[in-house]
Amino acid sequence: MAGTYNNILELINNTPLVRLNRVTEGMKGEFFAKLECFNPGHSTKDRIALHIIENAEKEGILKPGATIVETTSGNTGFSIAMVSIVKGYKCILAVSDKTKPEKIAFLKAMGAKVFLCPANVPADDPKSYYQVAKRIAEETPNSLYINQYFNKENTHSHYLTTGPEIWEQTQGKITHLIGCTGTGGTLTGAAEFLKEKNPQIKIIGVDAVGSVLKKYFDTGELDPNEIKPYQIEGLGKNLIPGALDFSVVDQYIKVSDEPSAYATRELALKEAMMVGYTSGACLVAARKIEDTFNENSVVVLLFPDHGSRYMTKVFSDDWMKSQGFTKSKLNGLESNATI
Ligand code: PMP
Repeated sequence: MAGTYNNILELINNTPLVRLNRVTEGMKGEFFAKLECFNPGHSTKDRIALHIIENAEKEGILKPGATIVETTSGNTGFSIAMVSIVKGYKCILAVSDKTKPEKIAFLKAMGAKVFLCPANVPADDPKSYYQVAKRIAEETPNSLYINQYFNKENTHSHYLTTGPEIWEQTQGKITHLIGCTGTGGTLTGAAEFLKEKNPQIKIIGVDAVGSVLKKYFDTGELDPNEIKPYQIEGLGKNLIPGALDFSVVDQYIKVSDEPSAYATRELALKEAMMVGYTSGACLVAARKIEDTFNENSVVVLLFPDHGSRYMTKVFSDDWMKSQGFTKSKLNGLESNATI
């Protein structure tokens, strides 16, 4: 029975775990998706926005009328804006001027004040979105800079919520956890909890071709030659995030734009799961290591957000074609609407 809640924030956390039935056909073991789009802000970032802000309140850092500052145009921005509205805070987001207008409109619709900063300047330039966010936070009394890539409370929020939920939902039977790492908070926070329960659980990180994380995991070196442009938003990075705890990761898998895009469409068309691009990337990674699973494997895939945010990307046939992801390769996964 549906519950009654005092405000939208009470719906954050406790997302469902749903069996994958068709997209893992032929693979040994059981596969489940942790559907983070069931959070009210439609992504896993609701968890960190709520936890980081409430933690700052407990520590006395935030008082009524406070200002929350961050540098994201993506899921985290939306989640912070949502939490700020309910709690009566102002939300300021410094974002790249390359951000699509629809994304900016999305954040503004949620009450955020958006500062556009030039994309083509180094991170230490005073005009960069990092420096602008830092400066606003420093100059604004009663403010908090979320700084999700380097905030340990990001990781801790998943230790407190995502990890315990998965343990209970699988009745302790989970054998593998697979997740894309951006800040690394989701995968490694959940992994820290799960490994305390059972150190045998295998933790598999997913990185993008074009990001430095896998190579750093394998060699301990940040190799600038690894950095290349790529389309999947939310996973991988050109820096090593402080929120990522490499010690709990057993293996890293690299995935590329094209198969991840097809896999995202497959999830919609075969499982009726309207999820984002990194969910497809996560499925691609699971398929790449299918030889490591057996009949007793209970594999949890982290699906971070909702597919509605990608209508002009993976769910657009025109976009797919513009990337050279051609109709013939779509294997019947093209949408009827435009083809
Ligand atoms: N997928 C998407 C769509 C995201 O926005 C993010 C967050 N950057 C991730 C995956 C990765 O989550 P995390 O930052 O917790 O590693």
